[in-house]
Amino acid sequence: MPAKIIDGNQLSRQLRGEVARRAAALTAEGRQPGLAVILVGDSQASQVYVRNKIKACEENGIYSVFEKYEASLSEAELLARVEALNHDPKIHGILVQLPLPAHIDANKVIEAIAAEKDVDGFHISNAGLLMTGQPLFRPCTPYGVMKMLESIDYPVRGAHAVVVGASNIVGKPQAMLLLQAGATVTICNSKTRDLGLHTRAADILVVATGKRNIVTADMVKPGAVVIDVGMNRDDAGKLCGDVDYAGASEVAGWITPVPGGVGPMTITMLLVNTLEAAERT
Ligand code: NAP
Repeated sequence: MPAKIIDGNQLSRQLRGEVARRAAALTAEGRQPGLAVILVGDSQASQVYVRNKIKACEENGIYSVFEKYEASLSEAELLARVEALNHDPKIHGILVQLPLPAHIDANKVIEAIAAEKDVDGFHISNAGLLMTGQPLFRPCTPYGVMKMLESIDYPVRGAHAVVVGASNIVGKPQAMLLLQAGATVTICNSKTRDLGLHTRAADILVVATGKRNIVTADMVKPGAVVIDVGMNRDDAGKLCGDVDYAGASEVAGWITPVPGGVGPMTITMLLVNTLEAAERT
């Protein structure tokens, strides 16, 4: 039987409806949630991501500010903008779109964002809070994945979760959230010997490498939940994930499509984080 689809668009609509209701309640009290998005440079992909984030804010009652700068912006100028937004009472969340131009130290910029406005959850103190089981902000993509598992009532506690990819923004926080939900977690990276040995043992398989078709049907345990975070282009230029979707959906119990899976959930959780930041003020 083909896998059931976890529809990120549908779940997002549901969650965004709730965000919009709570945002309206705050707005009525004169505390409309506000997000500032900073983009440096003219990467086409980043411009699309940023546009989608701003649009989602507008559609759900979140005030947004978009600041776009030339790639030549200096690190000092960017830090000064972040500092100004840290003190802006209308702004509850600050997001600096990554990657930044090579002459800017991304870590320095992330650390400059006030931790209580760090809606991406990348600040070192938020990473530490997540690690120690007291998260303030959960990074949006892994948070969205947890909501997807929740939406199918998946019993994460006691399950074996395998996360393929160990970046600071997806793989590592994903592993932490799964661990905190009671899963036994394996994290794989580019040095992992025999990736399939690990993936075939996964009840929950989260794949976030940026490598197209890194997971094929023979690497999936029958009935597993397969969550594909990857965003790649196929030979025809169409958006695709890291998993061979056609093959894996013949074996898995549940699977997320690309597009229409984790992508919309990432933006939804950004709205949730911004809303919650405003609710805390
Ligand atoms: P990243 O920083 O490039 O990290 C990739 C990770 O994958 C690294 O940990 C790397 O291992 C690991 N990896 C690479 N090749 C591997 C292999 N052959 N076997 C096992 N692990 C391997 O990427 P990222 O920022 O985490 O993003 C990953 C993918 O998710 C990208 O396609 C990105 O576009 C997508 N993404 C999607 C969303 C969304 O909303 N849908 C959000 C964020 C990211 P090492 O640590 O050893 O280098």
